[in-house]
Amino acid sequence: MLDKIVIANRGEIALRVLRACKELGIKTVAVHSKADKDLMHVHLADESVCIGPNSPVESYLNIPAIISAAEVTDATAIHPGYGFLSENADFAEQVERSGFNFIGPSADVIRLMGDKVSAIAAMKQAGVPTVPGSDGPLTSDTERTLEIARRIGYPVIIKASGGGGGRGMRVVHEESELLNGISLTKSEAKAAFNNDVVYLEKFLQNPRHVEFQVLADGQGGAIHLGDRDCSLQRRHQKVIEEAPAPYIDEDARATVAAACTRACIEIGYQGAGTFEFLYEDGRFYFIEMNTRVQVEHPVTEMISGVDIVKEQLLIASGQPLSITQDDVVLQGHAFECRINAEDPTTFMPSPGKVSQFHAPGGNGVRVDSHLYNGYTVPPYYDSLIAKLVTFGPDRETALKRMRNALDEAVIEGIRTNIPLHQELVRDTNFEKGGVNIHYLESKLAED
Ligand code: ADP
Repeated sequence: MLDKIVIANRGEIALRVLRACKELGIKTVAVHSKADKDLMHVHLADESVCIGPNSPVESYLNIPAIISAAEVTDATAIHPGYGFLSENADFAEQVERSGFNFIGPSADVIRLMGDKVSAIAAMKQAGVPTVPGSDGPLTSDTERTLEIARRIGYPVIIKASGGGGGRGMRVVHEESELLNGISLTKSEAKAAFNNDVVYLEKFLQNPRHVEFQVLADGQGGAIHLGDRDCSLQRRHQKVIEEAPAPYIDEDARATVAAACTRACIEIGYQGAGTFEFLYEDGRFYFIEMNTRVQVEHPVTEMISGVDIVKEQLLIASGQPLSITQDDVVLQGHAFECRINAEDPTTFMPSPGKVSQFHAPGGNGVRVDSHLYNGYTVPPYYDSLIAKLVTFGPDRETALKRMRNALDEAVIEGIRTNIPLHQELVRDTNFEKGGVNIHYLESKLAED
């Protein structure tokens, strides 16, 4: 078992990792920026190290500072959480080279899946369904490019191979816009990701976002924990997630889930991961893999009973998976609302002191949050302050519990998006289930 780990993150996920470590008897080191000295997990950790000033570049993205913290505290492993350095292959490599255990897949696998062109090629090879497209980078042969786009059929989407976070993409509706669109995307991608490789995909008009959670031990064991629907998004940011995804074709679901676990074994995956798909007209199309724990992992934990973060720690300690696919029983339904410190109508961040915090409770209610009375939300980082998760034997019960939980929650002193969530969980189309990825944006445009 791992002896002592550095939690290279902040906020709710740092606390989530700390709790899993405590359950497993692993000692913890919290590393934090100056502004974050009063984060809840910093107070609860066995040790803490200030790794730099408030700017993320100088603290949570500061690789030498994080590795030094591991050295001075005699830690054995580093958990990257999500965001920050969690999908940075160079970080994973330097952690391992410095003699520590990186809790996640190998640097090579992060690199393979972090580059969209190589990720898609690996998925095709493993039999995971992908979006019809150019199957590789576009070349300077413009005739060939035009021919590929005609074969795919308009609209098409130009995507940067090194893109991420919803950047480096451009939709093209007709041939006359294609070549210009490609040069623009290439120069943007060069500037943003220092990689001007772009490729083409069919642009799906009304897809849903459905993803599969996997766990693999890197020793030949791989399982999936079912799917999640994360279609309710604003600016490519997920707002509400649920598991399982409602109204999915059962054959397509089973085929894709099996392909994902097979792909884990083929690429030598180790740890927790997520295969993200677009789902349209009963079919799945792979878009990317996240090689880390995701914000929305609790909905899967609620319906599977599997503690995903504990599994990450067990896998990193070299243990084979303790469960097989047959042991996984998915039961009931779960929702997660991401509570952000932001204005519910303008979405402007709203940092500041939380004068009053009351977490909701009751049967099937889980709150993952680092908030406490008197805590000050700093302006320097992501605005996620709490994840409200509800579970029920069926979707309707889980949704009713979410309505109650949102109504009970009290966060005063700062503005939050709770009023937006209260409206969304009463929306008739959301209540029916299965809305597509454009639904929230078009609803907000109407209001
Ligand atoms: P990123 O790595 O930047 O998150 P993704 O490849 O995951 O990029 O795509 C982000 C979002 O862009 C998707 O969730 C979806 O909303 C949209 N998108 C990406 N590819 C397509 C496609 N082929 N058709 C329609 N929408 C797409």
